[in-house]
Amino acid sequence: MENAIIIRYCEIHLKGKNRGYFEKMLKENIKRSLKGINFTFTTMHSRYLIENFDENDYDLITNKLQKIAGIHTYSRALVVDSNLDDIFEAAKLLCEDKEGTFKVATNRADKTFTPSSMETSMILGGKLLDVYGGKIKVQVKNPDFTVNVDIREDGKTFVYTDVVHCLSGMPVGSAGKGLLLISGGIDSPVAGYMTCKRGMKLDCIHFHSFPYTGEAAKEKVIELTKKVGEYNGGINLFVVSFTHIQEAIHKHCPEEFMITIMRRFMMRIAERLAKQQGDQAIITGESLGQVASQTIESITSSNSVVTMPVLRPLIAFDKLDIIEISRKIDTYETSILPYEDCCTVFLPKFPAIKPNLERVIRAESKLDIEGLIDEAFKKVEKYVF
Ligand code: ATP
Ligand code: MG
Repeated sequence: MENAIIIRYCEIHLKGKNRGYFEKMLKENIKRSLKGINFTFTTMHSRYLIENFDENDYDLITNKLQKIAGIHTYSRALVVDSNLDDIFEAAKLLCEDKEGTFKVATNRADKTFTPSSMETSMILGGKLLDVYGGKIKVQVKNPDFTVNVDIREDGKTFVYTDVVHCLSGMPVGSAGKGLLLISGGIDSPVAGYMTCKRGMKLDCIHFHSFPYTGEAAKEKVIELTKKVGEYNGGINLFVVSFTHIQEAIHKHCPEEFMITIMRRFMMRIAERLAKQQGDQAIITGESLGQVASQTIESITSSNSVVTMPVLRPLIAFDKLDIIEISRKIDTYETSILPYEDCCTVFLPKFPAIKPNLERVIRAESKLDIEGLIDEAFKKVEKYVF
């Protein structure tokens, strides 16, 4: 009796003629993620199969599968020769620690196998009751668990009970590339996770205000970036020094526009970096109305300095829903660590909640915008995770 992992995808089925492209990308993403682990990989009618792996690697493999966008579910299966005795032995083993209601569902790709699917299910169900009758009971509608028997064309049969749900979404890389503005907060890592789950491969940019924000604040962002990278098949982080820009705004512009003008610089720098890296979109963690810088007027102001699409996957999310996702992807505890963010450094007492764009542009005209941006690009640190 051998072990196998059956991997299924879902939305790719909808892809018509392009399906091959998505399937190939998912296959490559799986193989890349499992690099260094010994196994064999086969494609089989809209499913992938992982076999011949070391039992000790099972948890490692399945933990990785749960972070690969495009995988809908997986099952651990026992693989036996296609005969009733061997199939029953496998089913018996799988039901050892089960209790409650069950049914057997047989599917024959090999139509030469006898008896029929229905009869096979009945025979196996009866035999399982003979062994475990005290703790399991047949129920065809909505049973607690199903013993699936998949009789393949090649003389082998899969037997499995559990189906584990994974991320779903689309394979990373199938929806182009984007640049995530990542802060140390709760929202932006969630926005990144959601975007790469839809197939966009991410790079990250973070604005750092050394010495106002310290090493610990940067480490926190590195930690968060790595977590997002687990879903992204690795990730690049660009840390851009922002202090000189903040100091210039602080010195030359009205205090109420501090955040507004900072945001406009962030967007300009992000767009320039995105173009250099071949990224096609900018992604932020903004959520409508969450803070003064996320009113529609503030968003209009920061959006108006770039032409690249700006994706805001959290725009209509409530904070509690965002927190729930951040817990799920294990970024929450890191995000709430109390380090200064560059946006809190020069925080005005009364930020403009509905900044007037003409006044903002006038205020900003006191600055050497291009010069400040050029200077920021002289101090970019790149990390590859
Ligand atoms: P987050 O929880 O992601 O920090 P937030 O609710 O604190 O978001 P803001 O501080 O207004 O909101 O930031 C809005 C968005 O701007 C962030 O989600 C992020 O995409 C981007 N951003 C803010 N600060 C930085 C920074 N220091 N570096 C890079 N991007 C940033
Ligand atoms: Mg923040």
